[in-house]
Amino acid sequence: MRVRTTFYTPIVSSSGVTFYGVRGSTPFSASTHVGFGGNTCCAVIDIPDEKPIILDMGSGLFAYSQSLGDCALEATVLLTHLHWDHVAGLPFFSPVLCPGGSLDIYGPPDEGLTLEGAIRTLIRPPFFPVTIDDFAGDLRMHDLWCDELQVSTAKVWARPVPHTSATSGYRVEVAGKTVVYIPDHQQPIDDSTKVADTVLELCDGADLLIHDGQYPQALFDQRAHWGHSTPDYAVEVARQSGVSSLALFSHDPSHTDEELAGIEQYAQDLGEKAGLSQVFSAREGVRIPLAELPV
Ligand SMILES: [Zn+2]
Repeated sequence: MRVRTTFYTPIVSSSGVTFYGVRGSTPFSASTHVGFGGNTCCAVIDIPDEKPIILDMGSGLFAYSQSLGDCALEATVLLTHLHWDHVAGLPFFSPVLCPGGSLDIYGPPDEGLTLEGAIRTLIRPPFFPVTIDDFAGDLRMHDLWCDELQVSTAKVWARPVPHTSATSGYRVEVAGKTVVYIPDHQQPIDDSTKVADTVLELCDGADLLIHDGQYPQALFDQRAHWGHSTPDYAVEVARQSGVSSLALFSHDPSHTDEELAGIEQYAQDLGEKAGLSQVFSAREGVRIPLAELPV
């Protein structure tokens, strides 16, 4: 018999965004990566007395899990797409393994599969020892593509973003601030100033844009079709849409702390010229209180 316990809501005194995984492609652990962290895509928007909103479920979801302990969390996930670096943390997320845990996952269907069909394909033998039906918590999956959604007091927009598969970006308006999450974004190969209308719609006047900045130009030149952006393009997207603060995200797993600090400085110089209030590179474990974002 399934025992339903009282849902746990993390206690926070103010709304904020915390980065639990900031890498793209694959997790990597090394002494050269301690400063920025080695986990893949996961960030969490905490709102006082409300369910947390989890942005992607990369290996950083396990880091979030560790911060919660074994609790019956009720949460909402906004999943951008189904690539490994965005979903690998799901079967290790303790709240879905706990009786009473409850997770609503919203994301795009792809390759003829519903979101639930795709996740069922991913989490089953021989790829994983059990299926999602063996989880003690409740897992509910909802196809969401180019639509809007209300999550408690948060208003959410999902819009298609150019990448290598069906991919959404998300705009979350909550606590009087707007956070936009676009971790994987294929910048146009021949025109680094062209921005898709759906991306401009998502980013319009946002307080914080968390955006793909995986490839410095030299790396982009080698991997132009791999689905990602340069820091230059991230700044350009922010400039065109009137974004205030830009957080570079989906750092390449090969880049050391020293290299990422250099990329961050480069992007800060670009951002200053573009009139942005703030540019930084996302670091694992760092929390950004929404009230402290510059206007
Ligand atoms: Zn991807």
